[in-house]
Amino acid sequence: MDNGLGYWSYKHADLNADREAFVQGESRVTYALFNVRTNKLASALEGIGVGKGDRVALLSTNSIEFMEVLFAVAKLGAICVPLNFRLAGPELAYAIVNSESRALFYSADLHGSTQAALSVPEVVDLQHVVCIPVDEADNAVDVPDGVTLLGYEALLESGRPQDAHHAVDADDPLLILYTSGTTGRPKGAMLTHHNMYANAIHLILAGQGLSRYDKTITPCPLFHVGGLCVHTVPLFYTGGCTVIMREFDPAGLLKMMEQEKATVEFLVPAMWSAVVRVPDFDSYDLSALRYTQSGGAPCPITVIEFLQSKGWDFLEGFGMTETCAGAMVLDADNATRKLGAVGKPVMHDDARVVDEAGADVPQGTVGELVMRGPNIFIGYWKMPDATADAIRDGWFHTGDLARIDDEGFFWIVDRKKDMIITGGENVYPIETEQVLHHHPAIADVAVIGVPDEKWGETVVAVVVPEPGATLAAEEVIGYARERIARYKAPTRVEMIEELPRNATGKILKRELRRIYTGREESV
Ligand code: AMP
Repeated sequence: MDNGLGYWSYKHADLNADREAFVQGESRVTYALFNVRTNKLASALEGIGVGKGDRVALLSTNSIEFMEVLFAVAKLGAICVPLNFRLAGPELAYAIVNSESRALFYSADLHGSTQAALSVPEVVDLQHVVCIPVDEADNAVDVPDGVTLLGYEALLESGRPQDAHHAVDADDPLLILYTSGTTGRPKGAMLTHHNMYANAIHLILAGQGLSRYDKTITPCPLFHVGGLCVHTVPLFYTGGCTVIMREFDPAGLLKMMEQEKATVEFLVPAMWSAVVRVPDFDSYDLSALRYTQSGGAPCPITVIEFLQSKGWDFLEGFGMTETCAGAMVLDADNATRKLGAVGKPVMHDDARVVDEAGADVPQGTVGELVMRGPNIFIGYWKMPDATADAIRDGWFHTGDLARIDDEGFFWIVDRKKDMIITGGENVYPIETEQVLHHHPAIADVAVIGVPDEKWGETVVAVVVPEPGATLAAEEVIGYARERIARYKAPTRVEMIEELPRNATGKILKRELRRIYTGREESV
């Protein structure tokens, strides 16, 4: 673990010098070149005063430069703070201020939100703002007094190309990732170099043996553990290649998979749903593909069955920001038998299902999922109370409801906060959603609870009809009632054009509850 993540770059410059580490558009960056460029950037950052433990914020769409900043920061023992580029100015400013970032990298295509973030008066610790050009265009922002604005390539070229091994411990924080904020104020989850290493090993093992001969295409945002830690960083560890897509485009992704001969593919369910709907799906030659993988939210079973019907193994993965991605994986051998389960904890991880008092619930009973292992985060940045609440007696409390079946497989039932209690019965929306996904006229669906005088809460299905389909509320209700208990079926159906989702494809249930109840929720 000498020198953490940065060390992988030094090693591969020796072991896999001429192999491609990252590809984007016309740029194909070998491990040798990646090492030299990240050495230069690390040395340049040191030259402008960034040192061990300092925070460097990174607001960028997917790019090779994103990975360069991460590795340069890692080489210094500093901490990278990737930011969700869909956030509004004040939200970005919150993360920059809360993390006390000393430098901010932004990609030129995000100059608008960067400017909005910099206009918030509290952004005081910042000393340097660095613009990463996109398609050779710089979009300069106005920086506050006392802050310097630098160009990415000029900064990088001012650094030294030689390897410089800084003192980095395995347990030093490497990343602060602000949680996706489907509930509450964003919290900065601190992930260490060792968390990244453990996750790489876990996903290589669970992912059917990733190697230097593997290649993936990632349109998943790199600021989130899904894009960064499921394949990208583990593949870097093996000497494999990641093709980076700046924006998700379902047909474009299939074309890229064909051209680049992708061998493994991870997408969040919302992306898979769009990809399997591409009309000429079968015309793409995806014969190099070894397996497909999803995670980050429940994958509709119809999508899993589609991918399996094409002959690919499908792996369902359960992970969180706080678990540095991979925490449980359902392996291909059990994928059909246990369709809908998230599998078993990855190598080195333990999981239990507990009641409010922290005691194990009887097998088969629903309780809160708690986990421990070397990939679990070390706490929330500057939030000791939230950390103490999340990690109790060494176990991380996920906030997810789960049950364990008689063979030890875990089933995620729902988020604790999304469970509906109607007439004293618990309804787990995911179950109702999975049933409705099978309806041929339903393209997408979310199930929420809204207050009801008689039942406490009642079940509401928010449905996106397939284009051109006509769908009546009674039809949806009747379809559900034929297949699941009456109390789990919706009593009300709302049609919507598109479900609100966050950048990583999670449905914003809080937002839906606000729309259909007219009430803001306290957090
Ligand atoms: P985030 O920290 O943004 O990655 O969100 C983590 C949350 O996503 C978990 O706590 C789960 O609620 C949800 N999640 C992740 N993977 C799955 C999965 N395979 N099935 C169901 N929910 C999932």
